[in-house]
Amino acid sequence: MYILWFLCMSFWFQTDRFEEARHRMVSEQLAKRGIKDKAVLEAMKKVPRHLLVPESQRENAYLDRPLPIGQGQTISQPYIVAMMTEEIKPTSDMKVLEIGTGSGYQAAVLAELVDQVFTIEIVPELGNKAKADLNELGYDNVNVKVGDGYEGWPSNAPFDAIIVTAAPEEIPQPLIDQLKEGGRMVIPVGPVGKTQELLLVEKKDGEIHRTKKSLVRFVPFTRSPADD
Ligand code: SAH
Repeated sequence: MYILWFLCMSFWFQTDRFEEARHRMVSEQLAKRGIKDKAVLEAMKKVPRHLLVPESQRENAYLDRPLPIGQGQTISQPYIVAMMTEEIKPTSDMKVLEIGTGSGYQAAVLAELVDQVFTIEIVPELGNKAKADLNELGYDNVNVKVGDGYEGWPSNAPFDAIIVTAAPEEIPQPLIDQLKEGGRMVIPVGPVGKTQELLLVEKKDGEIHRTKKSLVRFVPFTRSPADD
């Protein structure tokens, strides 16, 4: 009986501790730095980032920095996730494509905000792990595919918005084609290993408008050998 009580208490303490850290992350790293969209702030108060990063990184999950997620890849710092999410102006009726599933964290944040999320990851180990984790957390409006995101996801296009979380040297044409009229895409573009420009790409009257938003550093956008 005493052991059961102890186990319950320690579980409660752990959950509570992470929730507290998460709320602090939202107020100190996001709201204070200018993230205004209430729904984005609420979503990031909810998503258990510590359950999507590798166990060894759990304690660091709510810190103000990127984290390694295995296979040489990294998950962006929470502020960058918030900024990119806010930039697509998410609403509950939207269908969104993400390229670079990684840990599944960005996909989970989107899943709290929009109707359907499609996300593509080129590294099978990461894609499959994210799929299992998102499923376990109950995010049943996320579809994960393992493959090269360069080609987008034609059978589910067009998309209201596209978020790319790895940096190509140029915007992939298939992604431009799969963006809906009036749609928004956020994408870091630039040379491998250097600072990239985070661009907002809008499709208006069939024309493409690019706006530079900030300087960022993302992992490179890779291509599968079959597509080289
Ligand atoms: N959005 C992720 C962060 C991912 S880091 C998160 O929330 O955790 C970028 C990811 O893009 C890496 O996992 C990398 O393997 C993947 N990636 C790189 N090139 C890709 C491509 N062509 N298609 C799909 N995924 C790609």
